Amino acid sequence: MSAQKVTAVVLTITPYRETSCILRLFTHSHGLVHGIVKGARKDGKSVPLDRGFLLEMLLYYKPNRELHMLGALHVTEFFPGLRTDILRPALRDIALELYLKSITQSEPHPELFDLLTSFLKNLESVKQGFVFPLLWHFINKYCSLAGFGIAVEKCPECGADILKKGGILDIAAGVLICKKCAPVRTHTQACLDAYVISFLDKIETDESVRLKNYECLRITELLLLYCRHHFDIRKDFNSLGFVKTMLGQ
Ligand SMILES: [Zn+2]
Repeated sequence: MSAQKVTAVVLTITPYRETSCILRLFTHSHGLVHGIVKGARKDGKSVPLDRGFLLEMLLYYKPNRELHMLGALHVTEFFPGLRTDILRPALRDIALELYLKSITQSEPHPELFDLLTSFLKNLESVKQGFVFPLLWHFINKYCSLAGFGIAVEKCPECGADILKKGGILDIAAGVLICKKCAPVRTHTQACLDAYVISFLDKIETDESVRLKNYECLRITELLLLYCRHHFDIRKDFNSLGFVKTMLGQ
């Protein structure tokens, strides 16, 4: 068994016995990896670890094993900019939970690794008003890479320009329908205004958009419902519940 040097984002950390810990990682080379670090918490040589950290390590990978040995851990990026407020780490946790809940197999997906690390980097520096749009952008990119991207160009019923007018998200079909064609009962909950749709595609830094907390939460919840439907995720997102409580909604 030979060791491979890998880079990974920490999804979860669980202390194990006296001095060890179990990590759930998203690696560049193997995708999801479940690993154990022995002696990680011994005095004097412990590596301070947290969710969302970017690590380099040796992975002793054995196919068909559930838990792999990890060694020589080294933190390459801990994204200190995420600690400047409490919302950023909470939104980071939504992204990590999306990976945890939707990915169940170890398969190489370097594009998903790159998406996650660039999200973490951007979340450090994005202006305060754009932290939620950055998350929506990330979720939509993730869905696109998985083949469930939301089609936004024209209303499939009447051909109206959704990019200009906004639309109602039909979760099962993965399309946006204009307000005239969508059932009225879906209008309040599933509406994505034009500015939100522009965020799904790219992050604008137009200061004139002022987003209310309840609206940010509604859109985030809607996009996570979309993910739950398409990735067959049965359970609620704990991280979303935390953000709701934090913002008093
Ligand atoms: Zn229409």
